[in-house]
Amino acid sequence: MSLILDFLFPKYCYFCHQPHTYLCPACLKTLTPNSIQTLLEHPEIDFSLSLFRYSGPLKTLLHDLKYNFVYDLVPSISELISSTISQNYPNILNHWRTHQATVIPVPLHSFRHNWRGFNQSELIASKVSQQLKLNFDPFLINRHRLTSSQVSLPHHHLRLQNVANAFSLASTEINQSKNYIVFDDVATTRSTLLSVAQTLKPLNPNSICFLTLAGS
Ligand SMILES: [Zn+2]
Repeated sequence: MSLILDFLFPKYCYFCHQPHTYLCPACLKTLTPNSIQTLLEHPEIDFSLSLFRYSGPLKTLLHDLKYNFVYDLVPSISELISSTISQNYPNILNHWRTHQATVIPVPLHSFRHNWRGFNQSELIASKVSQQLKLNFDPFLINRHRLTSSQVSLPHHHLRLQNVANAFSLASTEINQSKNYIVFDDVATTRSTLLSVAQTLKPLNPNSICFLTLAGS
């Protein structure tokens, strides 16, 4: 089956165009992870970790996943995130496991979910949680307001307005861990992540951090 798929939709490395893989081992070695950022203006957020810069082939890859529906990219992306965290941030991973942190994917509005057929952040977060042995809860937060695509908005304040009050708590049942990792595939201004963090507030979290594959 995979041979037929390879023939119909040939795989190639997004970086060097080598066939049969989306991210070849040689190119993976050349990727340098970003460092952790603390958000001075948002002390309620422990830290933000955007693993790689949102540019070049990685940007094309995420665009293909979201807008050209290359669903098949999910395993490669998840593996990239999990291996980068295990290798480069073992202390953080340990901390998350010790505190039973729960990965919360940024939800899509049902309209966009139906249009695309999947929520890429949820699929990736689900696999990453399994691989890193972390809790995963895709049902804690709802997106009740359909917002414009953040990428289409040029200014930071427009992006903040766009996602303000877009989310609500689906359940007020207090999550045991109270430590949350808000996950999205990409964050440029972090306004969506901050809006989700705001929504988690009634749960009195002990800690919230942000995790994305790519960011600025
Ligand atoms: Zn390559």
